[in-house]
Amino acid sequence: MQPIKGLGFLVIVTTLACSATAPPAPIERPPNIVIIFADDLGYGDLGAYGHPTIQTPNLDRMAAEGQKWTQFYVGASVCSPSRAALLTGRLPVRSGAYGTEARTRVFFHDSPNGLSGDEVTLAEILKQRGYATGIFGKWHLGHLPDYLPGQQGFDEYFGIPYSNDMDLTREYSMELFREPKIETWNVPLIDGAEIVERPAEQSTITRRYTERAVDFIERNRDQPFFLYVPHSMPHVPLFRSSEFVDKSAAGMYGDVIEEIDWSVGQILDKLRESDLDENTLVVFTSDNGPWLVFETHGGSAGLLNQGKGTTWEGGMRVPALFWWPGKVEPRTVVDLGATMDVFATAVQLGGGELPEGRPIDGFDLSATLLGNAPTEREVVLYYRFNEIYAIRKGWFKAHFITQGEYGMGPERTEHETPLLYHLGNDPGERFDVAKDHPEVLQDLIDEAAGYRESVEVRPSLFDARPPAE
Ligand code: MG
Repeated sequence: MQPIKGLGFLVIVTTLACSATAPPAPIERPPNIVIIFADDLGYGDLGAYGHPTIQTPNLDRMAAEGQKWTQFYVGASVCSPSRAALLTGRLPVRSGAYGTEARTRVFFHDSPNGLSGDEVTLAEILKQRGYATGIFGKWHLGHLPDYLPGQQGFDEYFGIPYSNDMDLTREYSMELFREPKIETWNVPLIDGAEIVERPAEQSTITRRYTERAVDFIERNRDQPFFLYVPHSMPHVPLFRSSEFVDKSAAGMYGDVIEEIDWSVGQILDKLRESDLDENTLVVFTSDNGPWLVFETHGGSAGLLNQGKGTTWEGGMRVPALFWWPGKVEPRTVVDLGATMDVFATAVQLGGGELPEGRPIDGFDLSATLLGNAPTEREVVLYYRFNEIYAIRKGWFKAHFITQGEYGMGPERTEHETPLLYHLGNDPGERFDVAKDHPEVLQDLIDEAAGYRESVEVRPSLFDARPPAE
């Protein structure tokens, strides 16, 4: 594939030539792709998804002007594997982006490795198509120089390399999170490949990511761009800038979400002002469900069961908004979708090709986004570590294994007869209907067995860790 050259010039010429009289012009250049990825934001945390006190006018407007998906999933219920799924379009087990015990569930600040250079990321594919690529936020796919975003297709990076609660300078206690202090977490802030601040001043971090994102749009307005904004909030410890302190009726957590909402407004406003809104697909979603053990500092999965770390719906189903004025048809979508599908969709819209020689688990959603076609996705797999704990097909979901979040109960339980829920009429997974639908259950058992047999599981990348003390 050759990079696309001189696109900015072409667009100007064709716009001048046919502005007043012609019908709507065809897309003269591939659309910009913007992915805003919140961290640990739950299914129930936005106004548009029913939160009664957190105010999110910008996201609510984005939902009203675009598509609000209600059955949209991440690739894993914790950070690193979920990010690997989004950026590679692959189940995390295929890239080795998983661990096999709680202390290796993600990359940590002392992990010696990162996402393999053999993986082909969305940034690499779009860069090859002539896109400018920028990431402003939390990476979490390896913090050492060989694994930073610059090694995975991003031209620009400003952000933290792992979670904002890592490299703790004190003994762990829940108390540290109640009134968080910057110096408690020795998290580096990186610009390009250089540490420019440590510990990162987290209270201004959402604002600074936003400023960099808006500046990136300004500098790249004349060429296609891929902008990835993986906010480090609302992952605990919670921080927000002074303008948002005590702003929300929903406490510190609400303040943080309302600042993220402000940030989304800044980005959408910038696109509108730059006349780029009709040539930009913006996706807003979250990397996993709310971290419920942190009580009011964790979010809400709304009417879904449980949260982060689990394979219940609250762990892996997240809000997902798609916005592209004049292109994405505004409505609520109840078809199945996943972050891996965002990968496949963005590759297709960017004129790229799916990477060869490897399975890709995402489906192109553009026929649903741009028209009324149903999505191709029929199945959702719920992995924890390298095991399929549950599977969804259509409205039915079977749990083979259930377990509470990491470090919490209830203990891991293998179900001799899997639990079966109808997520259409029982979104909270409360009423086991296995006895009423033996043929459905058998079909799901067979389907999962097929994946267990056919999905090639790479060795774990996260298990490489310094020995336990
Ligand atoms: Mg997360």
